[in-house]
Amino acid sequence: MKGKVYLIGAGPGDFGLLTINGLKYIKNADIIVYDRLANDRFLKEAKEGCRFIYVGKESSNHTKTQDEINDIILEEALKGKTVVRLKGGDPYVFGRGGEEGEYLIKNGVDFEVVPGITSAIGGLCYAGIPITHRDYASSFHVITGHLKTEEEDINFKALSSLKGTLVFLMGMANLENICKELIKNGKSKDTPVAIINWATRPEQKVVSGTLDNIHDIVMKEGIKPPSLIVVGEVVKLREKLNFFEKKPLFGKNIVVTRARAKNSELKDMLVELGAKVIEFPTIEIEEITPNEKLDYSIKELDTYNYLVFTSKNAVEIFFKRLFSLGFDVRKLGSLKIAAIGSATSKSLRSYGIKADIVPKDFVAESLIEELKSRVKKEDRVLIPRAKEARDVLVKSLEKLCRVNEVKVYNTVIGDGKKEEFLKLLSKGEIDYITFTSSSTVRNLIKIIGLDKCKELKSVKLISIGPITSKTIESFGLSVSSEAKEYTLAGVLEAIQF
Ligand code: SAH
Repeated sequence: MKGKVYLIGAGPGDFGLLTINGLKYIKNADIIVYDRLANDRFLKEAKEGCRFIYVGKESSNHTKTQDEINDIILEEALKGKTVVRLKGGDPYVFGRGGEEGEYLIKNGVDFEVVPGITSAIGGLCYAGIPITHRDYASSFHVITGHLKTEEEDINFKALSSLKGTLVFLMGMANLENICKELIKNGKSKDTPVAIINWATRPEQKVVSGTLDNIHDIVMKEGIKPPSLIVVGEVVKLREKLNFFEKKPLFGKNIVVTRARAKNSELKDMLVELGAKVIEFPTIEIEEITPNEKLDYSIKELDTYNYLVFTSKNAVEIFFKRLFSLGFDVRKLGSLKIAAIGSATSKSLRSYGIKADIVPKDFVAESLIEELKSRVKKEDRVLIPRAKEARDVLVKSLEKLCRVNEVKVYNTVIGDGKKEEFLKLLSKGEIDYITFTSSSTVRNLIKIIGLDKCKELKSVKLISIGPITSKTIESFGLSVSSEAKEYTLAGVLEAIQF
C-alpha cells in the first residue's frame, strides 16, 4: 500500500501558530521532513519511533537540493509511510510546495496540504504591523527578493506605483537594490520601511527607517536573514500595536534546570511571557524498580494511618505501582493523606484524591508542625519519596510516631550540555537561571565544574524557596530573587519582581 504525504505549513515560528490539522498530522507521522524555518519544538509532538530528516535550506547554503528533497519524500511514501513535509510559513508562499505536490501527483502518490500562517502576514503582525489598514493601505503585495535566474527582473515600475504594503521575502541580499529601484521608480525616499528578523520567535529583532536609510541601519545593526522587508505607511503603526515585544520577559534568555520530562509547564509559562527558554536539564528521575519494599507497603496499606507525599514524582510512581498490583484508590480509604507543595496535591487530585493536610509552606518543616498536634505515638506513617531526600522529615517524625520511609526514585544527574552552556554564559547570553530544587543547584555546578561556579555571578539566579536559596548561597553565590510561593508560578513572579 502506498503511503501519503502531508505538506504542512508550520507557521512563522511561534509554536502556537501551527494549525490544529497540522498538529494532528505531525502526531501521526512516520517520517517528518523539515527545514530550518520550522520550529523544532514541533518535532517533540511526533509519536515514538517517528524518523526526522533535516533538509536544511539557508538561502545560499542548501543542505539538500529540491530534487533530492522530492526524491526522499517520494521514496518514503512509496514504501507505505505517512510522510509529513513540514515547511515554514505557508507551503504555497515561496515554499516550493506546488512543485513538491506536482512531483508527487506525477508519481501517483496521494497528498494533502495544510495551509499555514505565512510570515508575510503573521510575521508583520508580531512586529506590530497590520498588513492593511483603512487609513494607510488597501492592498498588499508579497514579492520574492530573490528570483530564479539573474535575467528575470522584479518589475519595480509597477511595484512603485502601488499604494499598498509591499512585503519582500528572501530579499536581504538584495535590500540596497530594492530600496534604490523603488525610489528611482517614483516611491518617496521617506516611505517607512521595517526589517523583521526571526519574526514571532523570542529572538525577534525589528529595525525601522525609510527607503533612504534602511540599508545603512541594517548594516549597522547586523541584521541577517531570515528577515522580512516591509515597505509602506503601515510600518508607522508599529509603536502603537507592538504587543509581542512588550511582553514582560521578551528578549530575556532564561535557563530551565529541571528534569526534561518535568520542565514543560515552566517552559510554556516562560514562553507565554515572551522569554527565550534554554533547556539545561540537571536532573533525571529514575524510578527504583523492582521495589519490593514499596510493593509490600502498598499491600499492607490498611495498617497505616498516614501517607505523606513530598513530590509529584512520588505520587506518580506510587499510583503506578498501586494500580499494577491490581488495587485501586479505595485501598487508601482509611488513610489521612498529606502533601507538600501545590504540584503534589494537584497530582493527587488527578487520581481523585483531595489531600487532608497541605502545609502552608511547602517544606518538610512546615509539615512536621502540622502533624505534631495530630499524630499519636502508635500511629504509622508511610513516606514514599526520593532516595536523596533530606533527613529532617523522617528524623523529626520518628520522634512523634512510627515511620516507614520507602525510597521510590533516584534523582540522577541530567544531560545538560556543558560546553554550550558555558559558551552562552561567557557571551553574556544568559539573563536568568531558574532553580526549582536544591539538587538542580548542586547538579548544575557538578556538570559545569566547581571552578566555573564564579561565572554564575554575572547572571540573575532565581530560587523556588529558602532551602534552594541556602544551597545557592553555600556555593558563594547570591540569590537575585526568591519565590514567595514555592511553586512554578512563584518562580515566574520572582523573575518579574
Ligand atoms: N513559506 C514561507 C516563506 C518561505 S521563503 C512563508 O510563508 O512564510 C523564506 C523567506 O521567508 C525568508 O527568506 C524570509 O524572508 C521569510 N521568513 C520566513 N519565516 C520568517 C521569520 N520567522 N522571520 C523573518 N522572515 C521569515
